[in-house]
Amino acid sequence: MKHITAIVLAAGKGSRMHSDVPKQFLDLCGKPLLFYSLEAFERSRVEDIILVTGENEIEYCKKDIIQKYHFHKVKAVVPGGTERYWSVKNGLQAAGGADYVLIHDAARPCLTQKIIEDSILTVLETAACTVGVPVKDTIKLVDNDGFGTETLPRNYLWQIQTPQSFCYKDIVEAYEIMERVQDKDITDDTMIMERYLKKKIKVILGDYYNIKITTKEDLLVAENFLKKIKKVVDMNVI
Ligand code: C5P
Repeated sequence: MKHITAIVLAAGKGSRMHSDVPKQFLDLCGKPLLFYSLEAFERSRVEDIILVTGENEIEYCKKDIIQKYHFHKVKAVVPGGTERYWSVKNGLQAAGGADYVLIHDAARPCLTQKIIEDSILTVLETAACTVGVPVKDTIKLVDNDGFGTETLPRNYLWQIQTPQSFCYKDIVEAYEIMERVQDKDITDDTMIMERYLKKKIKVILGDYYNIKITTKEDLLVAENFLKKIKKVVDMNVI
């Protein structure tokens, strides 16, 4: 049996939300946003979970989320870094012993069992994958003067989400190279694998509901989704 670990990232400041509370702890249908990703992984077949959060929020997470909601799979809560990739690096260090890792943003609370299971099946086969969705809008490159310079072919464009899943040894190696090179433009982990290990990433269908909460309007979309799911669960359909 392969050892699969989820790394949940909750160490961001969420400054675009203009709220005193970091967005991963905002209230969503009566629970902190972070609850939903932890709950999804707790119910899944991952072996354990590493939670990465702010140094000052570790005690709160342990007491008011992990203990309160009985998340037995959380094996460590570790501090994050100043950038997302440093938070991932700390999470990877704490995940020693894993064969595969699923790296997920706590800011995406609408994570489903289907997304987790599809990610696990795909990473076991391909060693590196991410979920995403085909873009619906036309996407343009725009120059510094505000003029469109090129319209990209929509058939090939996907919006990338998390979880992003990797063979543990590969992603650790890619991060070691990244640390030596010291690039500053890293926005996700698939980019690190592509750039430093020249690995191809399999992109599989996620869900249009699997949005990243960034501004207040996003909370309404997530609320809608969670109510819809709850109705289905209450009706014993799933
Ligand atoms: O800021 P952004 O929305 O891109 O963050 C995506 C995810 O990464 C969030 O769940 C956030 O908490 C996490 N993050 C982190 N450490 C950072 C920055 C972001 O764990 N330094």
